[in-house]
Amino acid sequence: MEEAKKNDEISIYLQDKEYIANNYVLECFAVTMLVYTAAYVLNLVGVFVIDQQLMWNAFVPSAFIYFGVYIVTRFVSLSNTKLKYFILFCIISMFTVSGVFLTYHVVLVMLLPILYAVLYSSKPVIRYVLILTIISTIIVVYGGYYFGLCDANMVLLTTERMSTYVSEGSFIVSEINSNPVLLLMLYFVIPRCLIYLAFVAVCSSLFNIVSGSVERARLTTALEQAKEEAERANRAKSQFLASMSHEIRTPVNAVMGMNEMIIRESREENIREYAFDVKHAATELLGIINEILDSSKIESGKMEIVCAEYNMGSLLNDLYNMISVKAREKGLQLFFDIDPSIPSGYFGDDKRIRQVLLNLLSNAVKYTEQGSVTLKLRCRVEASDAVLQFSVLDTGIGMRREDLEKIGDSFSRFDTTRNRDVEGTGLGLNIVRQLLKLMGSELQVQSEYEKGSEFSFELVQKTTDSKELGDFRKKLLEASERVVYQTEFTAPQAQILVVDDSQMNLKVFRNLLKETQIRVSEAESGGRCLELLQLQDFDLIFLDHMMPGMDGIETLHTMRERGLGKGTPVIMLTANAILGDREKYIEEGFDDFLSKPIVSEELFQIIRHFLPEERIVEQKKKWNADDIRDRIPEINFEMGMTTCSGDKDFYYELLQDFTELPIREELNEWLEEKDFKNYCIRIHGFKNNAYSIGARELGDLAFEMEQCTRVGFPENIEELQERLLLQYDSICLKYRAIMDSAGTQKN
Ligand code: ADP
Repeated sequence: MEEAKKNDEISIYLQDKEYIANNYVLECFAVTMLVYTAAYVLNLVGVFVIDQQLMWNAFVPSAFIYFGVYIVTRFVSLSNTKLKYFILFCIISMFTVSGVFLTYHVVLVMLLPILYAVLYSSKPVIRYVLILTIISTIIVVYGGYYFGLCDANMVLLTTERMSTYVSEGSFIVSEINSNPVLLLMLYFVIPRCLIYLAFVAVCSSLFNIVSGSVERARLTTALEQAKEEAERANRAKSQFLASMSHEIRTPVNAVMGMNEMIIRESREENIREYAFDVKHAATELLGIINEILDSSKIESGKMEIVCAEYNMGSLLNDLYNMISVKAREKGLQLFFDIDPSIPSGYFGDDKRIRQVLLNLLSNAVKYTEQGSVTLKLRCRVEASDAVLQFSVLDTGIGMRREDLEKIGDSFSRFDTTRNRDVEGTGLGLNIVRQLLKLMGSELQVQSEYEKGSEFSFELVQKTTDSKELGDFRKKLLEASERVVYQTEFTAPQAQILVVDDSQMNLKVFRNLLKETQIRVSEAESGGRCLELLQLQDFDLIFLDHMMPGMDGIETLHTMRERGLGKGTPVIMLTANAILGDREKYIEEGFDDFLSKPIVSEELFQIIRHFLPEERIVEQKKKWNADDIRDRIPEINFEMGMTTCSGDKDFYYELLQDFTELPIREELNEWLEEKDFKNYCIRIHGFKNNAYSIGARELGDLAFEMEQCTRVGFPENIEELQERLLLQYDSICLKYRAIMDSAGTQKN
């Protein structure tokens, strides 16, 4: 930004200089023409006698020079410095030549430009002009003398030559003739002064051009230096970020891995709670690192939009799952107002769209204390493309008018005193804006302080499936049903090799796979990996990227050269997210990559994908508290556990009972009988049941219904009841799905 601004200023400055130079040449030309014409006319009428020959000798070359200079300044860019000096040299030579023909004018012709330069121009210009004048004089005067073009004696102004000129005057007025001072002035000093004045004019314009040119050269060099410096600093920054990402991610990987072990293995609820706090903090830390990396990726132009087919339903579903937990924790209502008639399949970069929307929705939740957050999606069709109109609305703290202009500047956060407890880097919206720009869109922001904000943008996407998206809520339930039916697996026959120089990482890896019964061999270096491969075959190899000695890429290349591990898929393990481009690793010969810290789901997915099918033994999974946490976001497990004083078995029983309540039938019955009293009592009981298993939102809704049915049925009772039952059904459905997939074994 700064650099571009400076560049602009310099350009404007130089353009001004060129413009002044051009105008100056024209002005000088006009003045000289006027002087000559006046002198000529005066000469003709005999009022003012001038040395005619001398005038022509001076007029023709100077007119020629004016014209030349004008053309040069008009059509040759100032930036071509060498050409400029060459032209300057030619022009000064021409001056000198004209001086030679004018004989004794030579000294003045040479002196005046120098004088001018001394008086008006900067130091380097004086140097250049001096050198050029001396060279051209030597060449022309002595060259001219040598070739017999002129008489060296004539170079000097002598009284003898002067008297010759005086007597050669075409018309002599006797009074003037009798006055030697007047004679000298009229016949010699004034006409020559005019001529030299013209020369000075040309010279000054020339110097303007040259000084502009020199200045441009100086500024360009300075600018280039500054640019180089900035680029070097930027490269250093990227390098620093890349290594920082590696350095931080590697230990975070170990922390998260070990923490995962604690969560899985600890039987003590308070220890597990601490471990959840660690998980939360580590995830947050990773989020910040990723934001910094993303923004540096965008800055260095490395961020690419990778388009593929995607389904809008699953995109929205993911977003809902990710954001609903946060919204619920803050007691906010979350609405997904999605037009059911929009097409369901598109071609675009869903990963980036998800990132943009997640960022906007997270902000909306972060900066809203009460009320609601809404994601609105509409679509209009233009030719064969769909124009998706997204907006994220909130009823939060809003922004001041003056802050709106600064939105999207890196590291800018507003209302910092009020937001001091809200975590953030001030990079999120900048990333959003840049990503949208890459996708050909622009972020629009409307906000009213203390009232709320609306962030919206439009995206043009090709449709790949024009089937209507349909009811989003229903889709959500179906999707959750599909997810929970996934079973886990073991692979006791499988043999995997993992290569990493960190003992800690090897341990994490081994432990993550413990339950799969996969046999894991470990190597601490590329060399050791090659040795092991000579001894035995593996089903799958995980190779760390950064290792002392031979790194992951070198190890793979050596493996391939030596024909080791033929046909065995090799997965790159990398903590270096800035280089973590899948395509890059695939180009190097890897089959896929897994980014550190290792997320167990991703690891299992890769193993499942690359292990030969015959090695995989499908398992029905035991269910545990994590299933409830992960798969029933409507339930706050920890809240439920408090009700049961930490007794898990009791909690499971409560949950089971809760999902078997005949609440639908009972409510319908009381509603039909218009018995609001019993309805209210039933709802009161249900509210307590919901709170006791940790279903806070459901409990709140029941509480609201309890309040409004105390004195009769409100008008919208059916709508409220439908909302309540929908939420209840959703919990039951998810719970049953967990039970089914786990074969009802508890852990
Ligand atoms: P941060 O990490 O601080 O949230 P962002 O770039 O996402 O950074 O946002 C920049 C600033 O814009 C925030 O610090 C906040 O002051 C303001 N802001 C962003 N979204 C909202 C919103 N929905 N409501 C009010 N203020 C917002």
